[in-house]
Amino acid sequence: MSEQYDVVVIGGGPAGYPCAIRASQLGFKTACIDAWINKDSTPAFGGTCLNAGCIPSKALLESSELVHRAQHEFAKHGIGVGDVSVDLAKMQARKTEVSKALTGGIKQLFTASKVTGLFGTGKLLGNGQVEYKSHDGQTQVLSAKHIVIATGSEPVNLSKIAPFDGDRIVDSWGALDFTEVPKRLGVIGAGVIGVELGSVWSRLGAKVTILEALPGFLPMVDAAISKEALRHLTKQGLDIRFGAKVSGAKAGKKAVTVEFEQDGKAQTEEFDKLIVAVGRRPNTNGLNAEAVGVKLTERGFVQVDAHYKTSVPGIYAVGDVIGGAMLAHKGIEEGVALAEQLAGHHTQVNYNAVPSVVYTAPEIAWVGLSEEQAKAAGHEVKTGSGSFMASGRAKAMEQAAGTIKVISDAKTDRILGVHAVGPFVSELIAEAVVALEFAATTEDIALIMHAHPSLSETFHDAILLVDGRAVHAI
Ligand code: FAD
Repeated sequence: MSEQYDVVVIGGGPAGYPCAIRASQLGFKTACIDAWINKDSTPAFGGTCLNAGCIPSKALLESSELVHRAQHEFAKHGIGVGDVSVDLAKMQARKTEVSKALTGGIKQLFTASKVTGLFGTGKLLGNGQVEYKSHDGQTQVLSAKHIVIATGSEPVNLSKIAPFDGDRIVDSWGALDFTEVPKRLGVIGAGVIGVELGSVWSRLGAKVTILEALPGFLPMVDAAISKEALRHLTKQGLDIRFGAKVSGAKAGKKAVTVEFEQDGKAQTEEFDKLIVAVGRRPNTNGLNAEAVGVKLTERGFVQVDAHYKTSVPGIYAVGDVIGGAMLAHKGIEEGVALAEQLAGHHTQVNYNAVPSVVYTAPEIAWVGLSEEQAKAAGHEVKTGSGSFMASGRAKAMEQAAGTIKVISDAKTDRILGVHAVGPFVSELIAEAVVALEFAATTEDIALIMHAHPSLSETFHDAILLVDGRAVHAI
């Protein structure tokens, strides 16, 4: 006999677990199956984000940034701390505690909202059925009117060039778990994950070399902002080499040797550890998706329509597994929107207002179009850039590096994008997201008061420059 549910969600990451909770809140009898097992053999909800992605990386970025500031900045404030020492085991333990507190919280949320949380794997059987196999091997068939695939993504393994060995050549999860700071760290890929992880270990003392096949840095970011960000990161000691095409990596007992070509020249570098951070691929392993008729795209993503419906009636998909921006908040919004659609509500995710952040120091954040993208899309563009150099708050914080650039349509004054590098732009970008969501003009924001002294004034400064009312412009 199968157990009957209204909604079964396969995958309990940022896309799956909010979908399950919202579905239950809306009156559906809901189960959420999640396969994640941590390295200490404990299962946990929260997916990549909480266990091996967003949260542990931000915990280590915070700790390592504190080390950097204690070493390089405290003295300017007149604070002497002597030689700064790092207890990496303790730093790692704190990281794990932060993750566990949050993944434990999901269990509590499931209990509170009456979602049946199941640890194990889910496999599509067709005809509205899912096989649930618990980690101890027990199987059970669940029936559901609505089945949601939220199985996320996994790191791309360059199996022919630099295969993961879990020791010298690692993926992003392995790179969050080093027990020693590598003296020489190589990273393949200068994308968001590569530069974040490179920053962590560089601040803790590693000599970091990042090999990037593309000719430029973060091509989706406004060129002026990515250029400035690169300057700051390079100044901090990250050696980022562009146009560097890795052809092979061999792990030996003492080092990993990486061969690559740059400017037509074959080169070799040795590292103690190598992180491969070249992107993520959809995870449909063991799901039996195609066998039950769920169509995948050429790149293996689950194909969905604007309402997250797959090619099989009653089966839906959200999050990284459907592609687009592979970001936790994008998955959350899709999961919640889908649950509400199943309940008959009219909800929609605005893909033109998805913020992106790189949590380096200074941070890099953007939403909407860059100047280059806006021009390519046919807009006549007006831009304004506010500098943190002019911010009293940023100066008081000793973090006066960075710029916020506003890109607007010259004819309608509507804000098209905001791209930024600077202190806490991860937080400041929220105001830009609201502006885009409400289709604000620069005049709308120009007339809004911003607290003084605050970092948000720099956004206001950029807006005032576009709007022609800047009083701080030279
Ligand atoms: P996932 O989080 O991958 O969750 C999918 C879940 O489904 C997993 O628990 C998996 O075990 C489970 N599953 C898979 N197959 C099955 C099955 N057959 N049965 C049952 N369960 C199954 N994003 C941000 O927005 N901000 C950040 O700062 C950020 N930092 C990151 C840092 C790193 C190092 C990495 C790797 C990623 C980061 N991301 C960040 C991306 C973010 O983690 C993902 O976008 C997000 O986790 C995707 O959510 P999801 O629910 O779609 O998939």
